[in-house]
Parts: sequence; structure tokens; C-alpha cells
Amino acid sequence: MNKNSVVAKKQFGQNFLKDESVLHKIIQAMPNNDNKIVEIGPGLGDLTKFLVDVKSVEAFEVDTDLCKILQSTFKKEIDTERLHINCGDVLESWESSLIDEPYDLVANLPYYIATNIILKALADPMCKNILVMTQLEVAEKFCATVGEKVFGSLGIITQSIATSRIVVKVPPTAFDPQPKVDSAVFLIQKTKDRSDENFEGLLRVAFKQPRKTLMKNLSQVYDKKILQEIFEKLDFTLTVRPHQVSTSDYHQIYNILKGNLDGRRNNTGN
Ligand code: SAM
Repeated sequence: MNKNSVVAKKQFGQNFLKDESVLHKIIQAMPNNDNKIVEIGPGLGDLTKFLVDVKSVEAFEVDTDLCKILQSTFKKEIDTERLHINCGDVLESWESSLIDEPYDLVANLPYYIATNIILKALADPMCKNILVMTQLEVAEKFCATVGEKVFGSLGIITQSIATSRIVVKVPPTAFDPQPKVDSAVFLIQKTKDRSDENFEGLLRVAFKQPRKTLMKNLSQVYDKKILQEIFEKLDFTLTVRPHQVSTSDYHQIYNILKGNLDGRRNNTGN
């Protein structure tokens, strides 16, 4: 099999990026540092060929047919250790860190697992920056700011440890085959490591029913009296919705609730 006879496999989310101007914009947006590049889903290698020109690349590709094509296309880069290809499902080889050195994730991700991959990369202490293409709707969630309808757990988790921005919106015509949705490249630059894992638990409760009030969601799980005190302290009305509360206020809510729980634990001697 060669590059020209490949039929895209839907089950692996294969939409190959053909628009060279978008490939250039990805390369231009790459953070300037000495980190290794991790590419998830190199596909036919259209982005990979630009990446190996700039840095050494660790790639993860699930499709064995594509792995064979990549191995012959990039024989020279593999021999000189500029490129290493891991053939298999990236999620299966992802322990707490995907590789054991600092890296930036640069990829046109398989859309069906893009959110999961980005959350794993955000939690991975070795991952320093994330420059990826996903469907536009997902990109907007990771880059949302307080007050926007799409501001939710993904935006808050991101803002807690990083800055994020959309680099470029990309129409379906940039790909072969064309996806049904618009896409976007976005950049997340980490400023610190992942916040407390339990904080994400609070967010799940806060956004359980995103259109209900924050008080209604939180009071399903947390003590209403303590919540009323928190709302008073933070000057929130009872009608405030989850997307209208800022990332720093969520951290304040979390810290107060945590302090209360710890206090109660100490009082009972547990
Ligand atoms: N990077 C190429 C490009 O821009 O043309 C291909 C991008 S395509 C949207 C997604 C790629 O991810 C495909 O090559 C697909 O086979 C690969 N892929 C899908 N699921 C994967 C997984 N679990 N682990 C590693 N690669 C995966």
C-alpha cells in the first residue's frame, strides 16, 4: 500500500489536513523552546514532515497500515532518530506521563477522542504546551472565558493552569475527506502543573445541569447553609448560573468547602 491508495478509516477519525496554509500556521504558532514534540495521529505525515524540520518528534499512530507508510516515508528521519513512531493506541500507553521528558503536543487530533487526549495532556506534568486541531466547538470550550455560554469545566480546568487562544478557524474544505463540522487550531500554554484533582469533582457538580442555577447544582451535594455563607461572602446572587462564575471564584468556593470538610474531619477526630 502507498500514500495514494489509502482509504480513510472513519473509526479512527481520519480526516487528512491538505491545506498547506493551515500547516504553516500551525508551525508558526509553535512555542519557541527546546521541548520535544509529541504528535498524536501523524496519519500520512503531512504535518510530521514540517515538524521534523524544526524538532525531533515522538509520534503515536494507531493505524498499522499508516504506520508502515510512515516508516517508509520517513526512513531517513527514523534512522537518524529525528522521528520515532509508536504504533498503537496512544491512550493505552499513556501512564501519568506519555514520555519521560518535557514535550509540547502538536497534532491534528482524531476528533472522537480529542477532549480526552487534551485533558490527559493538561494533567501530564511532562506536557508543557498543547497546539492542536479539533472540531471548532471543542476548541471554543477550551478557550472560553467567563460569561460565555460555552464557559464550563474545560475552560476552567484550562484557565486554572494555562493560557489559551484560538490560532485559526479551519473550514471542512481544508481536509480530505471533509469532516461535517468546522475545525480550529488552538494553543494552550501551561504556566503551572495540574490543580487538585478534587477541584474537577466540584466542577462536575457545578455544571451537572449547566442551565440551572449554581446554587441548585451545588446544593445537590454540598451543605446548603455553608453554600449560602459562601455566596454571601463572594457577593453572588442566588440566580447566578455556573458559566457566570470566574475561574478564581471557583477556586475560592473549592477552598472554602475543602476547609469546612477538613475542619469537620478534625472535629470528629477522623
Ligand atoms: N495528522 C494527520 C493530518 O493532519 O493529516 C492525520 C490527522 S487525523 C484527523 C487523526 C489521526 O489520528 C489518524 O491518523 C488516526 O489514524 C489517528 N488516531 C486515531 N485514533 C488514535 C489513537 N487512539 N492513537 C493514536 N492515533 C490515533
